[in-house]
Amino acid sequence: MNIILLGPPGAGKGTQARHLVETRGMVQLSTGDMLREAKSSGTKLGQKVAAIMDTGKLVTDEIVIGLIEEKLTSESGAGFIFDGFPRTLAQADALAALLAKLGQSLHTVVEMRVDDDALVKRITGRFTCGDCGEVYHDDINPTAKAGICDKCGGTEMTRRGDDNEVSLRTRLMEYYKKTSPLIGYYYAKGDLRPVNGLADITEVQKSIEAILG
Ligand code: ADP
Ligand code: ADP
Ligand code: ZN
Repeated sequence: MNIILLGPPGAGKGTQARHLVETRGMVQLSTGDMLREAKSSGTKLGQKVAAIMDTGKLVTDEIVIGLIEEKLTSESGAGFIFDGFPRTLAQADALAALLAKLGQSLHTVVEMRVDDDALVKRITGRFTCGDCGEVYHDDINPTAKAGICDKCGGTEMTRRGDDNEVSLRTRLMEYYKKTSPLIGYYYAKGDLRPVNGLADITEVQKSIEAILG
């Protein structure tokens, strides 16, 4: 079963994707994580995208489609979770073509609905375990012991350079201009299932479980 988690920055896509990886053995494909990895390992691609990512603009379709294509052919599990991809209509068309080539299809597009005020709060308080990637929040979802990851005991917490209010504004506008048309695109295909992303993390988990069956 292949699914898309669709929603603005901070909607909870990564948090929910990690849960589905743990409970169902699905494979999380986050283009944001792939791009950040390229950035931190200093590859040519990483250098090319670094400045764009910092401002909050989208990187080119060609780059992210190439990254996804590579993973689709090299990874396997109980289905893919597309997290932060597709973000444009061109990416959505490319994904459909790539899946068809592999004899696969899309099961569901989960649209995570959250309002802008909640997003600002979520994004400005987000931090991540540098060792295992667990996602936390200063107030809403802190670690049990300050500075120590609940999942792996890691102590290197990281904050994203683009998780500030200025960059978030650009990211939100990119979302509304280029990504939100995908809601109509998938609605018309009959694949779209909205969830209330404003609910507690465990409540959102339950809604997604109910949809996926
Ligand atoms: P968020 O947590 O805000 O949803 P991501 O980690 O998914 O952010 O993405 C971070 C940045 O990486 C984006 O602002 C954009 O610059 C780039 N990026 C990630 N995925 C894509 C994509 N599918 N298309 C274009 N740019 C992307
Ligand atoms: P995305 O991948 O969509 O950008 P994340 O999963 O990284 O979003 O979540 C963004 C921030 O909001 C994180 O700090 C996370 O702990 C927090 N968060 C995630 N889901 C919820 C929720 N349902 N309610 C409150 N905070 C949440
Ligand atoms: Zn950890």
